Amino acid sequence: MQVSRRQFLKVTAGGLAASSMGVLGFLPSEALAEVRQFRLARAKEIRNTCPYCSVGCGLLMYSLGDGAKNAKAEIIHIEGDPDHPVSRGSLCPKGAGLLDFIHSPNRLKHPEVREAGSNSWKRISWHEAIERIARHIKDDRDANFVTKTADGVTVNRWLSTAMLTASASSNETGILTQKVMRSLGIVGTDAQARVCHGPTVSALASTFGRGAMTNSWVDISNADFILIMGGNPAEAHPVGFKWAVEAKKRGARIVVVDPRYNRSAAVADEYLPIRAGSDIVFLGGVINWLVANDKIQWEYVRAYTNAAFIVKEGFGFEDGLFSGYDAAKGQYDRSSWNYEFEADGTTAKTDPTLQHPRCVWNLMRAHYARYTPELVEDLTGTPKDGFLRVCQHLGSTAVRDRVGTILYALGWTQHTVGAQNIRTMAMIQLLLGNIGMPGGGVNALRGHSNIQGLSDLGLLSTSLPGYLTLPSEKAHPTFADYIAKTAPKAQAPGQLNFWANTPKFFVSLLKWFWGDKATAENNWGYDWLPKWDKMYDVLQVMDLMHNGKVNGFIVQGFNPLTSFPDARKTAADFAKLKYMVVIDPIATETASFWQNHGEVNEVDTASIKTEVFRLPSSCFAEEDGAIVNSSRWLQWHWKGANPPGEAKTDQEILAELFMAVRALYAKEGGTAPEPILNLSWPYKNPLEPTPEELAKELNGRALADIPDPKDPTKFLARKGEQIPNFALLRDDGTTMSACWIFAGCWTQAGNQMARRDNTDAGLGNTPGWAWAWPANRRIIYNRASCDPSGKPWDPKRTLISWNGTAWAGADVPDFKADSPPADGMNPFIMNPEGVGRLFCTDKLVDGPFPEHYEPMESPLGTNPLHPKVVSSPAVRIFKADRERLGTHDQFPYVGTTYRLTEHFQFWTKSVRLNAIAQPEQFVEIGETLAAEKGIQAGDWVQVSSKRGHIKAKAVVTKRIKALKVAGRTVHQIGIPLHWGWETVAKKGFLSNTLPPAVGDCNTQTPEYKAFLVNVEKIGVA
Ligand code: SF4
Repeated sequence: MQVSRRQFLKVTAGGLAASSMGVLGFLPSEALAEVRQFRLARAKEIRNTCPYCSVGCGLLMYSLGDGAKNAKAEIIHIEGDPDHPVSRGSLCPKGAGLLDFIHSPNRLKHPEVREAGSNSWKRISWHEAIERIARHIKDDRDANFVTKTADGVTVNRWLSTAMLTASASSNETGILTQKVMRSLGIVGTDAQARVCHGPTVSALASTFGRGAMTNSWVDISNADFILIMGGNPAEAHPVGFKWAVEAKKRGARIVVVDPRYNRSAAVADEYLPIRAGSDIVFLGGVINWLVANDKIQWEYVRAYTNAAFIVKEGFGFEDGLFSGYDAAKGQYDRSSWNYEFEADGTTAKTDPTLQHPRCVWNLMRAHYARYTPELVEDLTGTPKDGFLRVCQHLGSTAVRDRVGTILYALGWTQHTVGAQNIRTMAMIQLLLGNIGMPGGGVNALRGHSNIQGLSDLGLLSTSLPGYLTLPSEKAHPTFADYIAKTAPKAQAPGQLNFWANTPKFFVSLLKWFWGDKATAENNWGYDWLPKWDKMYDVLQVMDLMHNGKVNGFIVQGFNPLTSFPDARKTAADFAKLKYMVVIDPIATETASFWQNHGEVNEVDTASIKTEVFRLPSSCFAEEDGAIVNSSRWLQWHWKGANPPGEAKTDQEILAELFMAVRALYAKEGGTAPEPILNLSWPYKNPLEPTPEELAKELNGRALADIPDPKDPTKFLARKGEQIPNFALLRDDGTTMSACWIFAGCWTQAGNQMARRDNTDAGLGNTPGWAWAWPANRRIIYNRASCDPSGKPWDPKRTLISWNGTAWAGADVPDFKADSPPADGMNPFIMNPEGVGRLFCTDKLVDGPFPEHYEPMESPLGTNPLHPKVVSSPAVRIFKADRERLGTHDQFPYVGTTYRLTEHFQFWTKSVRLNAIAQPEQFVEIGETLAAEKGIQAGDWVQVSSKRGHIKAKAVVTKRIKALKVAGRTVHQIGIPLHWGWETVAKKGFLSNTLPPAVGDCNTQTPEYKAFLVNVEKIGVA
């Protein structure tokens, strides 16, 4: 008999009991046989997806106790799903701790209220919670709803209550939230995307036509060169990073450019330091080098970019300002940032010879001529020789058979120039011919597990599902205005110009909102949607709150007190609210902002009159539904157990709340009841719409028979059937779809998101696994992987090709499948000109070419490129926040925030395993600065900014070097997030106390990555 050490210990540890067991017949032989039984043998296996990051790793969950009547299922084990084509059984430290998340002591189990002025939570019933919240909603809405503007435009908006929506909840929760929220008239709304990847959408949509990661996790392994800059995937997306390692095994080179030598750098071929906030200098320098050294994929650039387009007379750039700047408004008039058009007014003029002085190519070349390698070294602190090596690596891909990619995340987005950081790299990839190519692309590594999905569903102030815009009072006062202004005309002959279909998507969306009540006569209920006058992003909403103009805040699956910049001001502003509703599976600092936690949260509880409702919701393991990973895959997951205590799903909570509000309007009347009373609510149980019902609505269905235009005896779909794809959507009210880009996810053939065929169709492409938007395409713009004649640029990287009658291959063509190369249709089908934009016309507020501007808090206090325009002239900053900006003489060091492998945002501090792995708050300080300040490893330090301070342990490190920048020494301090007081780890300060409340010019994503701080030693180790 073999007895392993573990078995031996198990047997002998029983001691006396073991001998008694022998008497009872439990002799070691039987006992060992028992040990050998597979512990999961009686368990039920359920498939799910990791709810943390956007890699979307597959999970196998095992539950016990679900077979017998009255027995509750309990999840007892979670491991990686070996079938999953991305994760292949792996989980990182976050995913590996998920069992402890489900069973965290910080899970909420009962509805509670914190009454005005109280210092404790009080348990209440669901009935009381829903009734009281519904009353708050109705009273506030009736008192403050705006039906019309002074000049008579119907706007139907409600600004005095704002809402934040979850970023890891399912699409089905997200779309129900969208429906309820807009029916109430809420426009002050945001999802986590605002504080993380907002600039990605702006930058990539303005360049390529869509705002999403272009390729996929597995496809990273097809690259020959990988630049990691503005991200740290080895730590933030550990399992996705395995595909960069696979590329390296194939011979790819990896270079990391980052303020901190991180774990991605540890496995890279080369690491280069950089001053936080100077990325455009580096990338602009790359553009200059590529042009100067003729490392351009010319066939691609001439055919597939707007290099040859002629820019309007009047466009210019001088002394740091583009043409059209209005200093009084702090904004640009962007009318000169456009093409010159032919007499028809829509066809852009071009000069294929690239000789015209105002063609995009020549303007771009002149703009970046200033970004010399010497300037790059001087402003970024990156050594010139290393920079030149990166240029050479990138330049080596300007050929048919070599491809490079970029992996980035919040290191690029969280700046006042966030969108422009990304735009610069998007331009580089166009110059190199790397977009649409397997192994190429711009890989925006999304953060939260479903932040891609919730962006797709338009859970942002001015958005609607499928990247449609919410109507604006100025541009779209009427339905006719909306249709006229959102469906562009093609700007080049023969282009697909896909957004011309907007009316079909929009009318189908309105039919989803209002059902039979949406008719041609009432413009499909157009006026029941709220209209915006400006973007009510989180910074705008917080400024309104600061000025006492917000009474209610509904917070769903979000922890804004830990996530918004300038936490002390945020907490003070929360105290001005009349009511707050927090829907979350775990205890958050936001819900308990009124609790005094000493120096960590110094508040006067009794003086805070906000009523706070805390509603417990289910977590990922306790619901069915789909989430969208960074590669745009909609992956269905299944419920493994009921939520704890009295917790409910978000769908139940939203439905109960909505039905209670609707009942009040039906009984009492009130202001603008129509959008609420007319909302389509066709769910079998109105108090609990099911994920299946909602997923089918996301896809869309025929509301009448849809005839086949090619054969009137046939139908493309019969009334009531799920539509197969978005091509069937109509603008005549005969179809409905809650999100046109998701059309195809649940067809007559069933739930496509639940598919699990992991067959590799070529180049790691697994089209049978889950379902990707749009139309199951895995690499977008893939027509650009072929030359204009339809042949793959690189036969080794054949994804699709023209076979003589159609485009076909391992991926679904992102193109009109039957358009032959001779027709001259170009690959960027969402852009009306059909090509990728080196010059992005008037799409961004801060310039058609990226330009380097210093962070709002600059360690230099000047901008050597144009000293009169130091920071971005198009930045929006509120008065109260401007007064809280510091200067480099008071706060001499650059603070930059980041995340740790072992933690995810502010959730895993409630998870025992992760709390053990990283229990205590720290900051990273370079050795030179530490020596100057007399700080030893393990000492307590205080890091302060103009807005407050945190205290943490010092990690003194070689990983952050002092940099020489513009003739001075710049020190940077690394500040991990993740701590707070609702925790099973050690209590810590909110790191977001330090950064300023100022955002990216285009999207208002806050500048967390470069701000000014000071550091002092306050105690010894
Ligand atoms: S956190 Fe991301 S990488 Fe880690 S297991 Fe979850 S999905 Fe995978």
